[in-house]
Amino acid sequence: MIDVCAQEKKQMSSITAALARIASAIESVTETESVTLKNALGRVLAVPIYSAINSPFDRNSAMDGYAFSSTDLILGQVITLTQVGISWAGQPYQGPLKAGQCIRIFTGAVMPAEADSIVMQEQVQVKASSITLPAHTKGQEHVRAVGEDITQGALVCAAFKKISAIDLGLLASVGIDSLVVKRKVKIAFFSTGNELTALGQALESGKIYDSNRYLLTGLLTDACYQVTDLGVIADDPQQLEDCIVAAAKNHDLIISTGGASVGEADYIKEVLARCGKVDFWKIAIKPGKPLAFGKIKDCHFFGLPGNPVAVVVTFQHIVAPALEQLSGVPMSQPLQVLAKCTTALKKAPGRQEYQRGILSQDDNGELLVAALPQQGSNILKAASLANCYIVLPIECSGLQAGETVRIELIKSVVSSVISH
Ligand code: AMP
Ligand code: MG
Repeated sequence: MIDVCAQEKKQMSSITAALARIASAIESVTETESVTLKNALGRVLAVPIYSAINSPFDRNSAMDGYAFSSTDLILGQVITLTQVGISWAGQPYQGPLKAGQCIRIFTGAVMPAEADSIVMQEQVQVKASSITLPAHTKGQEHVRAVGEDITQGALVCAAFKKISAIDLGLLASVGIDSLVVKRKVKIAFFSTGNELTALGQALESGKIYDSNRYLLTGLLTDACYQVTDLGVIADDPQQLEDCIVAAAKNHDLIISTGGASVGEADYIKEVLARCGKVDFWKIAIKPGKPLAFGKIKDCHFFGLPGNPVAVVVTFQHIVAPALEQLSGVPMSQPLQVLAKCTTALKKAPGRQEYQRGILSQDDNGELLVAALPQQGSNILKAASLANCYIVLPIECSGLQAGETVRIELIKSVVSSVISH
């Protein structure tokens, strides 16, 4: 007798094996374009950026206070200095600073050449044009050195870095106002299924609304992507083929949802094999087993499952790393941390599971996670409530409450709930 399950297990790729195949099959886009710094958020740097200047440009004060020379300090003695001028941010003090003298100085203002110390204004007594420093005043404090953030000629951002909001500030601080970035990755997506109904129309029995194109619209919102929504394609091999062949001409990647399984109306794998090539199509993860990866000429293809939660899980763990590779950033996987699971978990060995969970923290900072009761791959409400995945390895066969599990925070919902 043929053991279908054992055969299927052999055919399934682990997520690691699938990602390795993706890494070797996908090359990042090579074309580049120039963007202004203001338009660079989320784009991928094509070349490294080096600084033409030191940052800070000048030695300057880290505090509002008084600048003086530490040679004026006498250990354990109260010192009085004469104020001879002011250094404002943007308007340095021009005169010399002699022994026994100080200047008023504000945060960011240039230090006089002779000064090496700042005393905070809260620590001095001011009388007319002189200040008294307490006996414990330390010298050489609160001064920002030239180039202490970035030195002239140093690397500011490495090539293939995705520009963050912090990078925008960093690049501006060294005067960079335009960047060479990788061009956007062109992605087309569509849903397939004769049951799918457009929003705005009343549902008939047997029909459902198309959630997946809305999910993908959200998941594909990224400055690196240029996205085309191809709508809903019927469960019809010819229509699917026409759609895929046309989209492959001017996109780097096509994503479909639905029709990727083994049902009578599941044509994705067959159509992909006809107009291109199928690399693998079953991955040992749950939700999300039926997943096709392939290529039509130069265009990559992902056929994701139909169930919406499976779409999200496969997108985040398989498609997102592939998109990183395409856009030119190093492939990554979500960071996992350990948490104590407060619920018992059911699981059969054979696939890596991503159960939807709620992560919280007790008063000692220990992470606690509870699985949501409904784990069906069609249950979008539980996925919407979840703030993490509980990641159960392939061989795991369930666990008792109180055991330690690996969890992944779901991006965009990393905060914890405050209960009053
Ligand atoms: P399939 O892989 O086409 O057999 O679909 C698996 C399940 O996902 C079925 O219950 C479909 O009705 C459902 N499904 C497929 N596409 C969508 C979609 N775009 N939005 C919501 N559910 C879908
Ligand atoms: Mg279907």
